[in-house]
Amino acid sequence: MSDCSYRGIIETKKAGRALDRGQVFAFAGNVFKGAWPDYQIAALTMALRLQGMNSKETLWLTQAMAHYSEKIKGQGKEFSFAVDKHSTGGVGDGISLVLAPLAASLGLCVPMMSGRSLGITGGTLDKLDSIPGMRTQLKAGEVSGQLKAIGLAMFGQTDKMAPVDRKLYALRDVIGAIDLTGLIVASIVSKKLTEGLQGLVFDVKFGRGAIFDQYDKARELALGLIRTANACGLKSKAVVTRMEEPLGRAVGNALEIIQAWEIMRPGSPLQRSGWKQTADFMQVTQELLHQMLCFAGKTTGRKQSQALAGQALKSGAALNKFRQMLVAQGVPGRLVSDLPKHLPRPKRTVAVRAGQGGFVSFVDAKLIALAGLHLKVVRRCREDEVDFAAGVVLGKKIGDFVRPGEAIADVHAGRSGSQDIGAAARLVRQAFLIRPSKPRMFPVIKEVMG
Ligand code: URA
Repeated sequence: MSDCSYRGIIETKKAGRALDRGQVFAFAGNVFKGAWPDYQIAALTMALRLQGMNSKETLWLTQAMAHYSEKIKGQGKEFSFAVDKHSTGGVGDGISLVLAPLAASLGLCVPMMSGRSLGITGGTLDKLDSIPGMRTQLKAGEVSGQLKAIGLAMFGQTDKMAPVDRKLYALRDVIGAIDLTGLIVASIVSKKLTEGLQGLVFDVKFGRGAIFDQYDKARELALGLIRTANACGLKSKAVVTRMEEPLGRAVGNALEIIQAWEIMRPGSPLQRSGWKQTADFMQVTQELLHQMLCFAGKTTGRKQSQALAGQALKSGAALNKFRQMLVAQGVPGRLVSDLPKHLPRPKRTVAVRAGQGGFVSFVDAKLIALAGLHLKVVRRCREDEVDFAAGVVLGKKIGDFVRPGEAIADVHAGRSGSQDIGAAARLVRQAFLIRPSKPRMFPVIKEVMG
């Protein structure tokens, strides 16, 4: 019989040995009950990060974290296909804001549990919280009711729903223990197991703005996610996508809501241009939607999925679904006809200009994210408040031509207007590599797995 005390568990991992099932469940149970202080949880988490986790420890931690969570039940007949997607995190990755309403407008049931910013990558909950009145802390019963009524809810963990992940996620973020495949897999899959899904698609990112820079590591993560979800009885697929330059044009909480709104608004300049400015964002959204529709047997192929998406966006069905969700989650009805007008606005905006002419060869997502850190788009530590209005809007993307002195990005300083806007602008300028010849372009979707 293994030693399931704190000392027994930490000594096992410190010595580089694998924990057994009892020890993993004891760890999760003690986090759930609040029986271990934060320093003990942090110490074991760091021991796991340094010594690694095998596939059994990963599966047990996933199951234990899901065990100590309330589940969402009863999606109802009309929304019988509960599906979701989860991203491993990126810069400008506001895809959930479009994908979730889009999928729900096509008759899928989407109970999307999301997170806050993690490391340098933004969080869907922070983005939604920039909307006046929006409630993202919902009880499981409220989520079920909302799913029955409109087929869509976007919400965060509570002390009942995924409480162990809530604790571990926040601690991992601030102690530097994000980047271990086993911890990421357990965090993501355990959350998704509480949603009562029939299918799940992972967006696993690699590149400068992702948890893992290297494609090989991202692939290993994708395999771990699929293997663990399937072992828990949840059908899953993974789309491995590039995160070298930020997705789309907007990086920032309210800014990404505005971009999502414009993608979904019938007749917007973005729609009229065929979403040309946000082509990479749309490609990933389309592929994730296609995989979700496949789980539900609602498409015969990519062509049909694309046509369905186009109709739902152009007719306003996706935007109306988004509006219904906002109202159901507390946003006053009078705000949702023209939401962007009511979002926090920057106090000051500074244009970053190209020093020389040529083609944009690279836009370093990590440097843009670090600029975001200066502007408080994401948190430096757990207690930090994010600044909803702050962020960066990219005027140019990889492959675009620029003239000397032309604006390549706008830096938005939020609430006070005086955050480190100079430092942020310098990072944004550094992020752009401009060369005389056209760069080689890489597709944003690298692989579909599962
Ligand atoms: N997203 C999560 O939900 N958890 C992680 O650990 C990383 C990304």
